[in-house]
Amino acid sequence: MINEIKDGVLHIDGCSVETLAETFGTPLYIMSETAILDRIYELKECFLNKYANVRAAYAAKAFCTQAMCRLCQREGIGIDVVSGGELYTALKAGFPPERIEFNGNNKLWDELEMAVDSGVGRIIVDGLEELSLIEEICRAKGKRANILFRITPGVGINSHVYIMTGKKDSKFGIPLDDDVVYPQVERAINSEYVNFLGFHFHIGSQIFEKDGYLLAADVVLELVRGVKDRFGYDVAELNLGGGFAAGGAGEERKPYSYYLDPLMEKIETFYRELGGERPAVVVEPGRSIVAEAGATLYTVGSIKDISGVRKYVSVDGGMTDNLRPALYQAAYDGVIANRADAPKTELVTIAGKCCESGDVLIRDIKIAEGVKAGDLFAVFATGAYGYSMASNYNRNPVPAVVLVKEGNSHLIVKRQSYEHMISNDVIPIDG
Ligand code: PLP
Repeated sequence: MINEIKDGVLHIDGCSVETLAETFGTPLYIMSETAILDRIYELKECFLNKYANVRAAYAAKAFCTQAMCRLCQREGIGIDVVSGGELYTALKAGFPPERIEFNGNNKLWDELEMAVDSGVGRIIVDGLEELSLIEEICRAKGKRANILFRITPGVGINSHVYIMTGKKDSKFGIPLDDDVVYPQVERAINSEYVNFLGFHFHIGSQIFEKDGYLLAADVVLELVRGVKDRFGYDVAELNLGGGFAAGGAGEERKPYSYYLDPLMEKIETFYRELGGERPAVVVEPGRSIVAEAGATLYTVGSIKDISGVRKYVSVDGGMTDNLRPALYQAAYDGVIANRADAPKTELVTIAGKCCESGDVLIRDIKIAEGVKAGDLFAVFATGAYGYSMASNYNRNPVPAVVLVKEGNSHLIVKRQSYEHMISNDVIPIDG
């Protein structure tokens, strides 16, 4: 049990949140290592150890720190990065470059150079010009890069429009029109500078149903057949992306096997008919690995009870540490963490401290009666896209991150200081 209540106080992975608040301050991101490992072990059991020739690359964008990269390294899984900054973080953590996959819809020249120089395992080519850039860089450096093409399978999913990425009208991926995709594939097959390995799709995030994946797999398998028919070329790798839903706010996630078993069956059946060896199959889960492992701890400050309207309970963080409610109305659950077992009878709204009316973390949540300034408030399932989307809006510093496991805690990201926040400011104006 990751979350427990002892003497009324919430404990996360064996650590009292009161002690964590005293030691590290608030707002504070708390990541449970046990919960992260539970997911990784599940993935190993139902996918990595169950099927031959499969891999997983943790999508670092969900939560990217050097400690997280090191954890992935220790557990033997890969990492998917989408920027020079994420790549730099992984490399600085000592992560083996050959286990890094580089995604992104507009990779910059410098970022591609860094990827080629460091020898990342795969570059997932996401646009028509990118192949030329990679070839140019490889030519100049006398290197070859392994590439896949990210395609747009034309699949819509039942998720927020901002996190839907596989439909045709998308900034991600290469459209599947025959006169667009096949010339690129032919060029890559014949290129002196890249090894063309196969195809990638990622249909979106927080996906609860397997149907979209199966439809996308149908599309990519037809492309595989097309490549074989046209060029006699056998694709070596298929990357099915991430997007598996995390639980939280009353919603239960589905096990990885719910998505991956039928996908593997589809791919294996296809190859039994087509003949030849099934390519490697890769997945890139992010959110599902870290979301439920994280909680954010705040201190309650101002309370405004607007008679007959709403009671606002403001905390010492907000959209700067968790953008998702403001960005796409993501729902969260939370509790007064120092009175976690008290009956939840009072309806309130948990607001952030930023100068935006939309800076509301949880609208209409029942909490213990009589919340007061100084109480601790914990928001659950904030481990994904919380810290990684944090900003300095209103010049609020980014909170610290602490990794907890079985009663032990380790600071893995220091709280940003005001000094650090202004360290890039330059003043060209004389006083
Ligand atoms: N792979 C790619 C290419 C992505 O764009 C994303 C998220 O946007 C992911 C993997 C991870 O998705 P999730 O965190 O929903 O698993």
